[in-house]
Amino acid sequence: MQIALVPLLTDNYGYLLHDSTSGETGIVDPSEAAPVLAAAGERGWRLTHILNTHHHHDHTGGNLALKQATGAAIVGPAPDRTRIPGIDLALDEDETFRLGDAAAEILFIPGHTRGHIAFHFRGEKAVFCGDTLFSLGCGRMFEGTAPMMWASLDKLRRLPAETRIYCGHEYTAANARFAVSIDPANEALRRRESAVAALRGRGEPTIPSTMGEECAANPFLRADDPGLAAAIGLPDAPASEVFGEIRRRKDNFR
Ligand SMILES: [Zn+2]
Repeated sequence: MQIALVPLLTDNYGYLLHDSTSGETGIVDPSEAAPVLAAAGERGWRLTHILNTHHHHDHTGGNLALKQATGAAIVGPAPDRTRIPGIDLALDEDETFRLGDAAAEILFIPGHTRGHIAFHFRGEKAVFCGDTLFSLGCGRMFEGTAPMMWASLDKLRRLPAETRIYCGHEYTAANARFAVSIDPANEALRRRESAVAALRGRGEPTIPSTMGEECAANPFLRADDPGLAAAIGLPDAPASEVFGEIRRRKDNFR
């Protein structure tokens, strides 16, 4: 399966997925239609599927126009079926979505929204996780609690270390600034911060990173690290509480 990143709106990313055997082509989280059609057209790919990780408009705004233009089928989270425009196929945890020869396991990862899912293409070593896990960060908890979001991140961090993480936004540089502020002694984080600055300096995306890199550097995946818990004044607290405190600090970080 070929994967092509498509910049959308100001800082969203959609991802074109193409299975060359069947010719099937998906777009993950199309904020808008025109750039997606252009990116697919440049490659000679014809859109057959629209994949939504969650209902937010900046992930589904292109659904109906793309469906009208191409006849593509819209695939999204079953718990959010009433909030996904034009949904044709609603998927639950542990179901499998197939794009030609490529198969994605559906992971239910609520917290940012209550119906959020990820598409994990195990054979392709790739996960599309929307606004739950970002590079060096995580999404805001609009519809969930800290224990819920922590459980979702914990589910994601158990994926193989080489898994490439395709998230919904280019937030990595701002996330790095916050991460360093609460975990300044983390060498892996410092190295990633430098790499991110270099990429952004050249105007390049920081996506994808890998799960191994995120587990080492992303403070939201390290809430059960005793050193980090102690550093934020919560030694011996449950990981979900440490996670909640880190998320609260990020919400207030300028
Ligand atoms: Zn969102």
